[in-house]
Amino acid sequence: MPSNWQHSELFIDGAWRRTARERTETVINPATEEPVGSAPVGEEPDVSLALAAARRAFDEGPWPRLSGADRSLLLGRFHDALVARAEEIVAVSVAESGPTRPVARFMHVNTALPVARYYADLAASAPRSESLPHSVLPAPGGASLLAGQVKAYDAVGVVSAITPFNVPFFMNVVKVFPALAAGNTVVLKPSPFTPLSAFLLAEAAAEAELPPGVLNLVTGGNEVGTALTTDPRVDLVTFTGSDAVGAKIMAQAASTLKRVTLELGGKSALIVREDADLAAAIGSAVGGISTFSGQACALATRHLVHNSVREQYVAGFTEALKRLTLGDPAEDGVTMGPLIHAAQRERVERYVRAGLDGGAELVAGGGRPAHLERGFFFEPTVFDNVDNRSVIAQEEIFGPVICVIGFDSDDEAVSLANDSAYGLGGGILSRDTGRAFEMARRVRTGQISINGGVGGLTPVAPFGGYGRSGIGRELGIEGLREYQETKVISFKAG
Ligand code: NAD
Repeated sequence: MPSNWQHSELFIDGAWRRTARERTETVINPATEEPVGSAPVGEEPDVSLALAAARRAFDEGPWPRLSGADRSLLLGRFHDALVARAEEIVAVSVAESGPTRPVARFMHVNTALPVARYYADLAASAPRSESLPHSVLPAPGGASLLAGQVKAYDAVGVVSAITPFNVPFFMNVVKVFPALAAGNTVVLKPSPFTPLSAFLLAEAAAEAELPPGVLNLVTGGNEVGTALTTDPRVDLVTFTGSDAVGAKIMAQAASTLKRVTLELGGKSALIVREDADLAAAIGSAVGGISTFSGQACALATRHLVHNSVREQYVAGFTEALKRLTLGDPAEDGVTMGPLIHAAQRERVERYVRAGLDGGAELVAGGGRPAHLERGFFFEPTVFDNVDNRSVIAQEEIFGPVICVIGFDSDDEAVSLANDSAYGLGGGILSRDTGRAFEMARRVRTGQISINGGVGGLTPVAPFGGYGRSGIGRELGIEGLREYQETKVISFKAG
C-alpha cells in the first residue's frame, strides 16, 4: 500500500492538523477489497475550526479583495500543481473508486484539469460588473431623471462543498475552482468512501500558497456533512449526491437560509428512433453502462427503442455486453470495474429482484460474475419489456442495470422520457437530426445529446438538472455566477 495515501491530518487554515479525536478510517479498493489508504474521520469540532478559518479568510483575508488577475495567477499555480500530480490522480482514482485507467484519465485529468484552468482564467476575464441600459424616469415636478445602473458580482462568502463517491476528484475540482474563482472560501468534504483524491487537491493548494483558510479539507461522514450544512457561518452549500440526501441538505440548510446548489441523481432516457444507426447506438450504450459500472448520474438507464427495431437492438446490445471484461480496473484489458461497496451491490440486487417480480424480462446479466471471488462486481444487466411506471424504470439504481422500453411514435418517446421525476441527461439517436433536435427541445432535461457527443463534459457548458435532478448549474459562466451575489449600484447620471 503506498504510504503517501495514509492520511491522518486535515487541511485547515493552511496547515495540516490532527482531528480532535485522532480517528482515521481505512479506505477499501472496491475491486480487491484490500485497504489502499486511510483518511481522518472529522467531527463537529474539526468542522468548527475549518469554518472559523474559512470565515476569517473571507471576512478579513485578502482572497475576496484580490484583483481578478492576482486571483487568477494563484489559481493558475493551483492548476499547475495538479497537472504535476496527473499520474497520481489517475492511480488514486482507480484505487479508491474503481474506474479503469483510461476512464480515470479521461475524467479526472483530461476533463477535470481543463475545468480548473477554465476557472483560473475566468477569475481574471469574467466581468465583475456590467453596465445596464440607462433609463429616463419621470421625476416629481415634471422633470425627467437620467438614471444609470451597474450590475456588480460579489462572492457569496463561505462555501461548504459536499461530494459523492462516483467521480470524486472531478467533482471536487468542479466545485472548488469556480467557488474560489468567484472569491469565496471553501470547506470541502468528499465522500467517506473516496476521500484520498481530495488530499491531492489540498496538497496542490498548499504548494500553490493559496492564503490560509481559503481552501480547507475535512474528511468524514454525516456528522461533518450535517455540521457543514447547519452552521450559521456557512453562506452557500454546493452538494452533489443522491436526491434523498439533497432533500435532507435543503432542510438542514433551511433554518439559516443558506443558498443551496444541488446536483442530484437521474434516470435519463436514450431514445433510439427507427432510423437510428443501431451499431452506433449499441456502441454508445455499452460505453455508457461500463464506464463507471452504471454509477454515473447522467447515464441513460432507460433505453426507449422504437418497436420496429427493438428486437434487433436488444439482441445486438446483449451480444456486445458479452465482450466486456470485468475485473480489477488497474489491470490492462479490463473494461468494466466494480461497484463502490458491498451495500451498493446489495442495493442493485434488490432492484434486480424488483424487476423480476414486476414482470420485466431479464435478457442479460442479473447477478455477480461467477469468476470474480473478490471485489464488488456486478454483471451488466438488461431488462426488456419494462413498464415505464415500474420501480426499476422510475428509481435511480446506480448500478449497471438498463431498462429497455418500446415505443411507436416520436410523441410517445418524448412523453415516456418525460414521465420521470428526474431530468438530468439524455440522448436521441436518429439519422434525421432536425427531427431529433425538435424532440430534444421537448425533453425536460438539463442536457441531451444527438447521435452521441460530449454531453455536459466541457468547461463551458452549464451542467445541471430539472425536477429531482437538482437546483442550479455547474460549469460555464453559470457555474461561476452560482457562487456570486448580484448587486445593483444605481447612480444619477444627470
Ligand atoms: P450520497 O447522497 O449518499 O452522498 C453524497 C455526500 O453527501 C457524501 O459526501 C455523504 O457523506 C454526504 N452526506 C450524506 N448524508 C448527509 C447529510 N445528512 N448532510 C450532509 N452531507 C451528507 O451520494 P453517493 O452515494 O456518494 O453518490 C451517488 C449519487 O450522486 C447518485 O444519486 C448520483 O446520481 C449522484 N451524482 C450526481 C451528479 C450530478 O452532477 N448531478 C454527479 C455525480 C453523482
